Amino acid sequence: MSNLLKEKLGYDKTFDCVQCGYCLPACPTYETMEKETHSPRGRINLVKMVAEGKASVEDMREPIEKCLGCMACTTVCPTNVQYGAILEGAKQVLDEEKPRRLVEDFFFQTFFPSSKWMDALGNATWAYQKSGLQKISQRFGLTKKAPLPIHEFEAALPPMPAPKKRRGRADRYIRKRPSVAKVGFFQGCVMDSVFFETNQNTVELLLRSGAEVVFPEGQTCCGALHAHTGKVDASIELAKQNIEAFEQEGFDYIVNNAGGCGARLIEYHHLFEEGTEWHNRAVRFVECVKDISEVLVQLDGLVFEKTMDRTVTYQPSCHLQNVQKVTSEPLALLQKIPGLELRELDRPDFCCGSAGVYNIVNYEDAMDILDVKMQDVCGVDPDSVVTSNPGCLLQMKLGIEREGVSGKIDSVHLVDLLLEADPQPK
Ligand code: SF4
Ligand code: SF4
Repeated sequence: MSNLLKEKLGYDKTFDCVQCGYCLPACPTYETMEKETHSPRGRINLVKMVAEGKASVEDMREPIEKCLGCMACTTVCPTNVQYGAILEGAKQVLDEEKPRRLVEDFFFQTFFPSSKWMDALGNATWAYQKSGLQKISQRFGLTKKAPLPIHEFEAALPPMPAPKKRRGRADRYIRKRPSVAKVGFFQGCVMDSVFFETNQNTVELLLRSGAEVVFPEGQTCCGALHAHTGKVDASIELAKQNIEAFEQEGFDYIVNNAGGCGARLIEYHHLFEEGTEWHNRAVRFVECVKDISEVLVQLDGLVFEKTMDRTVTYQPSCHLQNVQKVTSEPLALLQKIPGLELRELDRPDFCCGSAGVYNIVNYEDAMDILDVKMQDVCGVDPDSVVTSNPGCLLQMKLGIEREGVSGKIDSVHLVDLLLEADPQPK
């Protein structure tokens, strides 16, 4: 096998795996699919065999494409195997071997990186919901005829704000009094379209905490979806565009509210060779990247006085927890709300099955994983499941529907719940 293929597959890194199997109980796909090839250890072995020419690239396609990328395996691995790099390399090799598909290319090259297309998505969804078309479509099962299971997800979408409201958003929120921090807000692609209100609520919490907030012009999709599907070159171009956008002004924090996006942003420096100019610029960018929960805890500018009579459980985003290592901050914020009862899940570390576009392209497998998660949720019996990532939020809404408990349990983004508690500046 060529050295280039070995390098792309992270062959050297596969030797760090000592085959101990400690990662197996942590892996959702090993649990639900019950195959060694669908475990972290099995996948690493397969990649090694492909690099050595003992297996073909196609042999690793299914096991690799069925990996959630949740990184739960990395948190328990005693030898600190760089599984993320091995997985990304394998996905890149698989993507290069795949025949090009025009629809897929359109989504990754044109749709996600474009704020105009994201606006169009938000406006079209608003019109679909507002015009009554959604009700008709659901009544007659029209979306069930779509090639992908979008009917499940469109039913879980939140109500879209009117286009006028979206257009009316400022790109700079300055305080009358001196601010305690200058925040560059990473708005995301889907997040700013489908979860526009959550972005606005994030801004409001930052303002009440004493910060000023700027939406830098020229920012784009973080590139996580591209990286998850092996489009590494495209994800590097998006990283450069974001670094340039946030370099226009000096920021104390670059804040995001989506665990999956944040995990990509904090790894931008790994995309460039050490010592290069882009690597140095990426390091400066990454130093400022924070999840909203970290910044709210660090600024400590909010006081929660309103009592909220609600029982909640927290479903951590895998990428927030396992990649960004943000674990205690969301819980610390929830614990500040008077009256709120926080019940811990039995297995909070177990992925919900959302994982970027995994639940769309591997629908059946994602639902098996979601069913395990929902058993845990129902056992805890909360009023709300709190999440910190848009994909997890939609997945939990879907799980709640599947379990038939939608009148009893709801799902909410951490930011939306915090603002509902109406905290005031200290
Ligand atoms: S825990 Fe780490 S070293 Fe052990 S089998 Fe899993 S990946 Fe390999
Ligand atoms: S990333 Fe998640 S699904 Fe993939 S091997 Fe690791 S634990 Fe299993």
